[in-house]
Amino acid sequence: MKIISSPQEMKAFSTSAKAEGKKIALVPTMGALHDGHLSLIDKAKELADIVVVSVFVNPTQFGPNEDFDKYPRQLEEDAQACQQRGADIVFAPSANDIYAPDASTFVSEEQISQYLCGQSRPKHFRGVTTVVSILFNIVKPDCAVFGEKDAQQVSIIERMVRDLFIDVEIVRAPIIRDENGLALSSRNKYMDRLERLGATRIHNALVEAKKMIETENCDNVDRIKAYVINNIANAKARVIYAEVVDAKTSLPVSRHETGKSRISVAVWYGQTRLIDNIQI
Ligand code: AMP
Repeated sequence: MKIISSPQEMKAFSTSAKAEGKKIALVPTMGALHDGHLSLIDKAKELADIVVVSVFVNPTQFGPNEDFDKYPRQLEEDAQACQQRGADIVFAPSANDIYAPDASTFVSEEQISQYLCGQSRPKHFRGVTTVVSILFNIVKPDCAVFGEKDAQQVSIIERMVRDLFIDVEIVRAPIIRDENGLALSSRNKYMDRLERLGATRIHNALVEAKKMIETENCDNVDRIKAYVINNIANAKARVIYAEVVDAKTSLPVSRHETGKSRISVAVWYGQTRLIDNIQI
């Protein structure tokens, strides 16, 4: 496995691999890799000859008072994990490699991005769509794998790829959880063991809501939201939003339709911002 930091070198590698007829899959990450990320590598290996994992803590997707500075960075460990899992390339550029000092071009999706995380993190998705576009131009993947942990993000990327006729197949992979149900996240590192245990109430509430919806045949979105909020909120957990959305587009729906919706939540658990969702 090779670590590449220069965009030019990455481009040259991809150009020659493609000239040899090789298929490339990209797994974009911000590093601090866990089993959730590694499951995306497994999926990518099923789809392509060459798997590129990008590790880049993207400054443009963080707000001014967010955790960009304290976000965990551990490239050596990440590269080892990628190698063990069978990735071919770790692409780990610096922010200066990716953004010229006077960079002034952004890609923004303007519908889905207005809801859910877009409300509390106003420029977040603009940063995501911009960096994913840049990574697509550098790595030239045939396909890219994204986790449904960030369901709104993958909906926005699918919309961007459709709207801009980008030739990359977007592949979704399921959420990987710890033994207690907490969705794996690099931000779980901000919590101690007890907090991580407490934060499992988020997933538990989603599972309970799903049961309630099924047994009571409930399609009332306000009732579902209230149920989820009541089951999550406590002294430690503050719900930022709980929404019933279309499972594919992540746009809010006015009635739940069985098999077609998802409950998405964002929660401050102590000092840690967590998101999770469940298909219903
Ligand atoms: P991040 O490093 O948090 O930007 O995530 C990089 C990719 O990994 C995104 O496509 C995420 O959706 C995905 N991912 C993160 N956590 C999980 C998880 N627990 N299960 C599946 N995919 C995940």
